[in-house]
Amino acid sequence: ARPSPFFHAAPTATADSLAILHLTRDNLLPIKLQTTADDGYAEGAVTNTRFGSFPHRTLIGLEWGSQVRASKVDTGSRGRKGKNAKKQEEAAEEQGVAESSNKKRKSDGQPDDTPASPTKKFKPSHGEIPNGTKNDTARPPIEAGSGFIHILPPTPEAWTSSLDHRTQVVYTPDYSYILQRLRARPGSAIIEAGAGSGSFTHAAARAVFSGYPGDSSKLSRGQSQGKVYSYEFHEPRVQTLRDEIKDHALEGIVELTHRDVCNEGFILQDNTPPSVDAIFLDLPAPWQALKHLSRSTPSSPLNPESAIHLCTFSPCIEQVMATVSALRKAGWTDINMVEVQHKRVDVRRERVGLKEEGLRGVNASAASVDEAIARLREVETKLSDFHANRAVTNSANREEMATNASGQKHPSKQERLDRIKREAEERKLYKEGNLVHRTVPEVKTHTSYLVFAVLPREWNESDELRCAEQYPVDEIMRGTPK
Ligand code: SAM
Repeated sequence: ARPSPFFHAAPTATADSLAILHLTRDNLLPIKLQTTADDGYAEGAVTNTRFGSFPHRTLIGLEWGSQVRASKVDTGSRGRKGKNAKKQEEAAEEQGVAESSNKKRKSDGQPDDTPASPTKKFKPSHGEIPNGTKNDTARPPIEAGSGFIHILPPTPEAWTSSLDHRTQVVYTPDYSYILQRLRARPGSAIIEAGAGSGSFTHAAARAVFSGYPGDSSKLSRGQSQGKVYSYEFHEPRVQTLRDEIKDHALEGIVELTHRDVCNEGFILQDNTPPSVDAIFLDLPAPWQALKHLSRSTPSSPLNPESAIHLCTFSPCIEQVMATVSALRKAGWTDINMVEVQHKRVDVRRERVGLKEEGLRGVNASAASVDEAIARLREVETKLSDFHANRAVTNSANREEMATNASGQKHPSKQERLDRIKREAEERKLYKEGNLVHRTVPEVKTHTSYLVFAVLPREWNESDELRCAEQYPVDEIMRGTPK
């Protein structure tokens, strides 16, 4: 079976592979790298972003994590706004890149500044800017001042940040916590409902993956192939996710079933139940699905030889209360609720100005940070006063010379000086404003409440007998085990 790029990414970006373009921290774009364009353009497939254009042939062969400068190739006709256009506009503002002008195609379909038929492939080493001067004579030149991106391998985290949202999704801070509380590990079998946009699906698949699908020789003794049994009742979402699972070579790990789990339970397509150790319910009414998650239900999906760990994900406390009540009545234990409050910590490099002013290490306390900012402002003001005064004198002199030459009547020298000072003052204020850096406020703090519960493993007389055989208590106590 083809290995999933989510588990075994090749060391470099290869043709036909999935890659994630990191435009900014909050803006990632998944692309399939292609050598040729579907529409037959000479430069091959190109991804257009607000940071410029990225022909795929300039990305194929790069080491993951490489920084890539935009090429001068710009396919204006294909740079139309797609579904990611809004995200990209926001990202461009964040990166501070002006919209690159879309160059018109020449009548032969070749962009104005693209050298015809490049023949040499450039393979930069890690982190090297691929449009550098060496080895890339056949490649399009860099557009000065254009943007850059980073090329990343597919991971569940990058996929969550870049996928096409068909629903609300579970984000990394929540699913990393959920998966460890569910004890998801290589070889685990887990139920997920509903599948929605497949964000949790990818993270769960990686957590339970224990070898190549279908290749049991990769598994250690007693280890089973991990499995995610995923359920979704919305047909179009099922189809989209099914295509993605196939594309990402996750078919051996993820089994997606089109079913209403609240009404029809967790039977698979072939009418057999799965056997799982963990359950994650991201449904509007998880308590309605609980009746199918009992050991006594015919076709119960619960592994009789294992304690079952369950998590439900609900945005409202009323949903939590209904779920907890249903769990208590159904005999679940260790019921508790958690809310993951994710905070982003913005870490920045110390400004060069701090060092110059002998203020190194001042960020040790809040008071000293304020002190440092005040001092920096003072230095900045002095500097900008110096430049403003010089500009005033130069500008006034230039204006006077121009007035003399044209012989027209102009405002007096004092009026001109006042105007230029005023303008300089405005510029100074703007510059000062830029000095104070702002931490990105987290508007969205609450995602959902997580309810966890455990159903103990089934235990009956035959289990007790088997156990007695395996662990002969009498002999152990006498000190003579077999
Ligand atoms: N966990 C998903 C992710 O990370 O992308 C998002 C799940 S989304 C919030 C909830 C999904 O549950 C929707 O796609 C919805 O169609 C599905 N759903 C709701 N009730 C369902 C039911 N009774 N059976 C199966 N799926 C259901």
